[in-house]
Amino acid sequence: ASEAEEKDLVIVGGGVAGYVAAIKAGQSGLKVACIEKRGTLGGTCLNVGCIPSKSLLNNSHLLHTIQHDTKNRGIEVGDIKLNLDVMMKAKDTSVQGLTKGVEFLFKKNNVEYIKGTGAFKDEHTIAVNLNDGGETEVKGKNIFIATGSESTPFPGLTINEENVITSTGAIALKKVPKKMVVIGGGIIGLEMGSVWSRLGSEVTVVEFLGQIGGPGMDQEISKQIQKMLAKQGMKFKLNTKVTKGDASAESIKINVEAAKGGKEELLDADVVLVAIGRRPYTAGLGLENIGLDVDERGRLVIDQEYRTKIPHIRAIGDVTFGPMLAHKAEEEGVAAVEFITKNYGHVNYNAIPSVMYTHPEVAWVGQNEQELKAQGVKYKIGSFPFSANSRAKTNLDTEGMVKFITDAETDRILGVHIVGPNAGEMIAEGTLALEYGASAEDVGRTSHAHPTLSEAFKEAAMAAYGKAIHY
Ligand code: FAD
Ligand code: NAD
Repeated sequence: ASEAEEKDLVIVGGGVAGYVAAIKAGQSGLKVACIEKRGTLGGTCLNVGCIPSKSLLNNSHLLHTIQHDTKNRGIEVGDIKLNLDVMMKAKDTSVQGLTKGVEFLFKKNNVEYIKGTGAFKDEHTIAVNLNDGGETEVKGKNIFIATGSESTPFPGLTINEENVITSTGAIALKKVPKKMVVIGGGIIGLEMGSVWSRLGSEVTVVEFLGQIGGPGMDQEISKQIQKMLAKQGMKFKLNTKVTKGDASAESIKINVEAAKGGKEELLDADVVLVAIGRRPYTAGLGLENIGLDVDERGRLVIDQEYRTKIPHIRAIGDVTFGPMLAHKAEEEGVAAVEFITKNYGHVNYNAIPSVMYTHPEVAWVGQNEQELKAQGVKYKIGSFPFSANSRAKTNLDTEGMVKFITDAETDRILGVHIVGPNAGEMIAEGTLALEYGASAEDVGRTSHAHPTLSEAFKEAAMAAYGKAIHY
């Protein structure tokens, strides 16, 4: 970077929030630089998160299907073997293709990419320790902090990413563990637990709450997916907390007890996955040099235009409020740039979908039943099982349901919850409906192609204001 030149925008962090903001800024004609220390672009999501985990989920599901679900389809296969090394290489190929793709998009959109670690020197200057050695400084009229998040550690269990692992170790194990204990039955625990369970591990998930999938997941749906995952071989200990762990010997000992106190038990495992959440990452960023604080959960405090208390410094993505999701980070990247270029940006936080990529998938948008009950909102439910859907039947993949929750008086959609094949793709329609303020009847009177899984979506909507035809 040239020290003299001041950029319109300097972004610290080249994850989804940062790289999307950089491209949008480049497209909008701003002079922009993005500082990333990892050596590759795309952040947690592309390098060690969304993308590698989905590659392993997809391929482990294929293996599981071939092992357990071919005979009844008239497909006879011979010896089936896992080649973990090749499966990991396939994952790496997907990751590399995508991170390089972002680098190409930087060039295409005139984004200056600085490989190094950035820290605030003053309110307009970032000092960069370059990955290749040496230092530089970049000045920005505007600065975005997009430094993301890291796994929350579990006290007493030191992560080595070999047998005491976070998701980063879980996407790179060199052999299939015999026994894996997963601490935390949230999205990471269930996705990565699924991968290793399908590849042959005996997986036990220990979850503090009374349901898996986190509090955002509708309780009815959570119960259903838990049954399905249990049928696939995963074990669950709900309302249970891990009190301590001892990884000093090869067989790791995990002490658990009932969340409300009482019954204790000792679990053993050869790998333990710590998946108790993620926390914002601002270490080494020099926030103290400019007097910026984080809140009690480590988040940078911002206003509705993503401004910190120093208005030309904004924060986006996992490092600030809201769900830690790549598509949320992406929306914020675009909106934050628009606040600079147009004084207006928009993200609808009520219509951000969540997807868990197990099989079947779980996806939802808007509010769930337990939230609406707590708020005293009067609602209606319309649901439709995939077992009554023609395409699911032809696919011999009929587990799950679509569930609409609508305002009892107006029929406006308040939430859509799906557990079933392809739920993650189907939720886009629910998100669009919510974004447009649609009623269930708007969806129910829209033609959906036959035979498709999305007919279950239409029929669940019909059930919310009237009756489904096929159930
Ligand atoms: P990050 O992606 O964490 O990027 C921040 C970047 O900043 C990092 O690359 C870091 O190296 C860099 N950085 C930090 N400090 C500095 C500094 N001082 N100088 C220079 N660079 C710095 N979300 C989904 O929506 N769908 C999924 O399927 C999904 N799967 C996931 C699976 C796993 C295993 C994990 C861990 C996460 C998953 N997520 C998923 C969440 C998603 O990865 C995050 O929400 C997303 O990456 C947030 O983007 P971000 O840009 O805010 O932060
Ligand atoms: P999470 O917050 O989703 O789940 C953590 C779970 O651990 C919670 O259910 C919590 O009750 C439980 N827990 C906490 N302490 C515990 C203890 N001592 N004993 C037992 N259970 C305990 O966090 P995560 O699964 O680690 O995921 C981190 C973030 O990454 C999330 O924000 C998630 O949205 C994101 N992510 C998203 C996807 C996706 O979109 N498909 C995939 C992976 C990760």
